[in-house]
Amino acid sequence: MSQQPRVLLTGGAGYIGSHTAVALIEAGYAPVLVDDFSNSSPAVLKRLEQLTGQPVVCERGDVQDRPWVEGLLRRHACQATIHLAGFKAVGESVAQPLKYYRNNVGGLISVMQAMQAVDCRAIVFSSSATVYGDPASVPIDETFACAPESPYAHSKLVCEQMLAAQAKAQADWRVGVLRYFNPVGAHPSGQIGEDPGGVPNNLMPYIAQVAVGQREKLQVFGNDYPTPDGTGVRDYLHVTDLALGHVAAVKRLLQCPGSFTVNLGTGAGTSVLGVLRAFERASGRSVPFEFVPRRAGDVAQYFADASLAASVLGWRASHGIEAMCRDAWHWQQRNPLGYAGEVAHELRGSGEKSRLGSFSDAI
Ligand code: UDP
Repeated sequence: MSQQPRVLLTGGAGYIGSHTAVALIEAGYAPVLVDDFSNSSPAVLKRLEQLTGQPVVCERGDVQDRPWVEGLLRRHACQATIHLAGFKAVGESVAQPLKYYRNNVGGLISVMQAMQAVDCRAIVFSSSATVYGDPASVPIDETFACAPESPYAHSKLVCEQMLAAQAKAQADWRVGVLRYFNPVGAHPSGQIGEDPGGVPNNLMPYIAQVAVGQREKLQVFGNDYPTPDGTGVRDYLHVTDLALGHVAAVKRLLQCPGSFTVNLGTGAGTSVLGVLRAFERASGRSVPFEFVPRRAGDVAQYFADASLAASVLGWRASHGIEAMCRDAWHWQQRNPLGYAGEVAHELRGSGEKSRLGSFSDAI
């Protein structure tokens, strides 16, 4: 049996999960991926094996099934959990709030109860900078008041509060909350990346689809913000840096008692036009755009004070916007339809919650 620390990675086949899986394997951990593939493709698993040169363990199912999660934690003898599984579309959460609370809050309760039952006490939680709402100033540090403006953001804050309550009630729990800013880009190999499916909500995948010729032009939401060029400013973070943030967080939890909440961002803001121009440079393509009115709920400026993550985790983002655009473009060119069309791994086993293909042979 391998001596590598086993880490349950929920949402492991998704955009952030897949990059985190690579980073964990490269750092000497043995992730056990869990996914229901509601917003991801089994095709990513083969790519992960190609990238890492190792078998990848993935289990299919819904994290809200507590006995099933408990069984997984026991069977794989996981020492920690990284909980990424959740819904993330802000607009959809406004239209269907119960779906978001049920999945995001309910999923975490189930995972924590399963951990409690098997004496697994270390959890890294995927939160979001949207918990801050419209900040009074920038950069945003972790002492800022939280004022979530959507059910999605509120569901993340409720999860944070639940984790804090549990850590207070039971001193042996170790909780690492990561408040992500705007993850973008892809693995530099072009093998894994963001596959939004349908019309992208987010800026970078939309720009990439315009650049590759799938969409006519970008709509820039607002050019009258109080920012240097009038367009919204965000803290874009290379997804491989974000993945390393998870590795640093789980490492810290396994080594030291105690809990933390940190921002993960670069600390630098880039405007919509700044991203567009950087993407044009990276791709050599022009990206047509038009200005349209502001999108409801958007704020003018949003970027992190990321110094706490540096001091607590020894983590700093190392990629700038040029590398983010370069890698997003590489992924888009190699996979214009994302993972669609890829021959999915044959699902073996019976029933809903089968182990996936040969991947489980590793354990
Ligand atoms: N944006 C835009 N056009 C788009 C998508 C996004 O102008 O098609 C802008 C949006 O108004 C914001 C920035 O790009 O200023 C980042 O938006 P995204 O949805 O990627 O992330 P958010 O910061 O909203 O979570």
